[in-house]
Amino acid sequence: MPASYDLLIRRARLRSGDIVDIGIQGETIAALQADLAGEASRVIEAAGRLTSPPLIEPHCHLDAILTEGDAGHNESGTLLEGIARWAVRKQSLTPEDVRRRATEGIKWYASQGALYIRSHVDICDPKLTALKALLEVKEACRDLVDLQLVAFPQEGILSYAQGEALMEEALRLGCDVVGAIPHYEITREMGVESLHIAFRLAEKYDRPIDAHCDETDDEQSRFVEVLTANTIRHDMQGRVTASHTTAMHSYNNAYTFKLFGWLKRAQMHIIANPPDNIILQGRFDTYPKRRGMTRIKELLEAGINVAVGHDSVMDPWYPFGTGNMLHAAFLAMHIAQMSGYSEVPRVWDLVTENAARVLGVEERYGLAPGKQADLVIFDAPSERDALRMMAPALYCIKRGRVISETTSPRVQVFHEGKSEEIRFVKQ
Ligand SMILES: [Zn+2]
Repeated sequence: MPASYDLLIRRARLRSGDIVDIGIQGETIAALQADLAGEASRVIEAAGRLTSPPLIEPHCHLDAILTEGDAGHNESGTLLEGIARWAVRKQSLTPEDVRRRATEGIKWYASQGALYIRSHVDICDPKLTALKALLEVKEACRDLVDLQLVAFPQEGILSYAQGEALMEEALRLGCDVVGAIPHYEITREMGVESLHIAFRLAEKYDRPIDAHCDETDDEQSRFVEVLTANTIRHDMQGRVTASHTTAMHSYNNAYTFKLFGWLKRAQMHIIANPPDNIILQGRFDTYPKRRGMTRIKELLEAGINVAVGHDSVMDPWYPFGTGNMLHAAFLAMHIAQMSGYSEVPRVWDLVTENAARVLGVEERYGLAPGKQADLVIFDAPSERDALRMMAPALYCIKRGRVISETTSPRVQVFHEGKSEEIRFVKQ
């Protein structure tokens, strides 16, 4: 008797290049092999297209998403003007406003293949309006994405009145991850102390940590070493993430060499955010201008886990983007100069496998029997082509359900009396 599936995907091309059929029952991948026997309520013909575990957005801000222009446009394009405009826009946050924008943003991400999201939420608000709304969104959008929320003290744990108490309240309400922003605290000592607080809270509530860390061009900003030392001393190896770390770009190589050794021992995760940081950093430089990007390629070569985030989508800091993680990966590939033939699949890892390790979801993530049935069929034969063409995600499947479909654009060129369809694939 042939097996019966709820959903069967025929001729899916895996990242390895193998062509397989994928049988899904309920929310789980039940079988994955070539020429799978069986029938299904629905069959999708992938026709040799890249079928990948979903993209992951490991670093964004759903409380600020889609607020670009609401408090006037950022005319200088700088971080400081972004902060000033957010401070104004933040005053008019309502639960409904946050729910509406975050839900819309999640649809943008998910329909382009990002089916796991980690969002920071600004908790420097005595009412915790955004957090309470996003906790509701997390449940309401469970069919589209697995969403993790980070208690993020945008204005500092110690530099904002009641910062520590608000962090604790956010964790008590259900934040999944402890955040921090040590380089933003008033003094270096307060930055160090803020990380000690973050670790105390992480221990008390048994949560991982993801700190905005050294997001500055100041080569003296060295909080990632404090984060690393605390990780080892609190025995939290593999559960701590340093986001941005753009100052690392400017560290001297001798110090960086020492730092890499400890980052590896701490099993630190690093998240680079190319869209925001390539625009926001280096603004105090003349020429040559620094790129404001952490050392993605060298960290990977040293065996340290690196993922890439989009960070902002149409907010006061970054006015562009559609929530397409391929844009962020494409930028990373260029800025980190990872264009070598064998490096390109490693770029795909930055927004898939590596990001899954950051989120700690490896157990259910991936294409294999027994895994959660989350996958994306791209309109391209390989990762390389998907990145090159910014290929649309034709089918996004979350927990066994098709959550979005995209029709591939059809391009026709009229030349020498003929009409010809162009597919942007080398013949
Ligand atoms: Zn951020």
